[in-house]
Amino acid sequence: MEHYRLHLILSVVGIVIIYVILLLVYRNNLIGRRNAILSELAQIDGLTTLLNRRAIIPLLKDAIRRREQFNHTVSILLLDLDRFKAINDKYGHMTGDEVLAKVGEQLKAHVRSGDRVCRWGGEEFLVLASDTGLLQAQLLGEKLRTAIGNLHFDDVERISISVGIAEYKPHEGFSSWYEPADRALYEAKAKGRNKVIGFAA
Ligand code: GH3
Ligand code: MG
Ligand code: MG
Repeated sequence: MEHYRLHLILSVVGIVIIYVILLLVYRNNLIGRRNAILSELAQIDGLTTLLNRRAIIPLLKDAIRRREQFNHTVSILLLDLDRFKAINDKYGHMTGDEVLAKVGEQLKAHVRSGDRVCRWGGEEFLVLASDTGLLQAQLLGEKLRTAIGNLHFDDVERISISVGIAEYKPHEGFSSWYEPADRALYEAKAKGRNKVIGFAA
């Protein structure tokens, strides 16, 4: 009888321990999945669902590494909506938001699957074009400029973008890559907007 009772107690304790272990494993799993979702969300721009600036930085660094080590050419395109403030002023911020979302969608639809589109900030986007030299990047810039210019909105007139481009030159680092793209964008604006300009660094 005593032996039977001891056996029963040990069995119950064993079952309780197994149950607690399973519960802990399940909870850890749940936390892991929740963290994965959170870190994915932290990389996405809420309005356009494009990658945000935080998410593109490591991809830019990786592209630099691949250029240095394996000679994969790579270019960036900076795209800025022309006179966008006027759209907000005329139609309201909500309509402006809808325009931005549609622009993001359109950009994504017109790049290759290996390219990355990011909302760099405000009404500015950055495209990381892999295996793409300056000339091809200029063609891509023209394609994107045309695609955005052809967008139709129910209650907003046609919009345009200006584009500044730079191909990465080995050993220059990110700042020296970004600078000519920014300068080219500035020049595209100064020359009347709705233009694509690329600089060799
Ligand atoms: P430019 O051709 O020189 O670029 O003129 P612009 O009006 O586009 O440039 P400016 O820098 O004067 O204004 C940018 C505008 O973009 C102002 C700002 O309110 C708007 N903007 C930035 N982020 C958002 C956003 O998330 N939603 C909306 N609706 N507007 C935004
Ligand atoms: Mg603008
Ligand atoms: Mg801007």
